[in-house]
Amino acid sequence: MSDIDKPVEKSALNSVCASRRSMLLGGAALSLGAGLPDFAHARMPMAATNTPYFYRFPIGKFQATIVSDGPLALGEPSGAFKGLSKDEIQKSLSDNFLATDNIVLEQNVLVLNTGPRLVLFDTGMGTAKDFGTTTGRLLRSLAQAGIEPSRIDDVIFTHAHIDHIGGVVGPRGQRLFPNATLHIAKSDYDFWTDESKLTGDLKAFVKHARFNLLPYKNRIKFVEDGKDVVPGVQAMAAPGHTVGHTIYVIKSENASFVFIGDTTHHQVLLTEKPRTEFAYDTDPKQAVQSRLKVFDMLAKDKLQFVAYHFPWPGVGHLAKQGDGFRFYAEPMTIVPIPAKKA
Ligand SMILES: [Zn+2]
Repeated sequence: MSDIDKPVEKSALNSVCASRRSMLLGGAALSLGAGLPDFAHARMPMAATNTPYFYRFPIGKFQATIVSDGPLALGEPSGAFKGLSKDEIQKSLSDNFLATDNIVLEQNVLVLNTGPRLVLFDTGMGTAKDFGTTTGRLLRSLAQAGIEPSRIDDVIFTHAHIDHIGGVVGPRGQRLFPNATLHIAKSDYDFWTDESKLTGDLKAFVKHARFNLLPYKNRIKFVEDGKDVVPGVQAMAAPGHTVGHTIYVIKSENASFVFIGDTTHHQVLLTEKPRTEFAYDTDPKQAVQSRLKVFDMLAKDKLQFVAYHFPWPGVGHLAKQGDGFRFYAEPMTIVPIPAKKA
């Protein structure tokens, strides 16, 4: 049985009787992935499947596929977003019809087929369960999208946090992308694989970075600000979230697309109020400066982008709104519409 066929967790709706109204509620909960209602008297069994976790679209002559590593629950948000009061956070979330007691971040991994190369951008949590059991789906999502790990030529990282580097080795430390070269900023590699940090506050992060990156030690190349990583993909330094946090600008023909990694973690809280500081930033003040710079570029140049932690699949645009920015999610195109004839 593949993972997608497994029953999802049962929700609190279990106890609701099978009235017409609760049937409707159950349908809504399922489509939102909130849980599987268990109605004894349903006319057909409630479905236990949802959509495959990949989404494909073109960038010029390249083909992009977003594959998910699964959602990551951060929990109650007031400690994580600094500079906003608890009331402001609650109001922002409820005004946007989002849960106020548990922030859920997606993990939108990008696979880019440039023709000559197959490139993976960030890799999810892997076997680490520090943020619960809903993560670690990357290999399943790649399989659903028909992408074999052995065909990946390059793995490009925005930074070495556990939810970005976690998916390159298996449980015994074996390389899952046997033919890939890894690319990351040297400052981030050095910081997060530093043995002397194994005893400090950052030890869980350092342990996972070492576990994932060291098996590829001889196959790591360091990215540099403003330089091409592979043809069509240019690195752009955006430090603060980590010392070497880097985003990537993809260009093919007239199309541009940006993989912005963790420039922002939330489509409302860190986007509409971009000066908010985030608890996991190594240098929160520098992260704010990088966020404002990248956001200005995205809005001014109307660049399409994917944010690693935005709601699935995380693709869209930003526009200025007051002191901050607003995210406009791209409509998902399942069947491409042919261009209209003149
Ligand atoms: Zn992250």
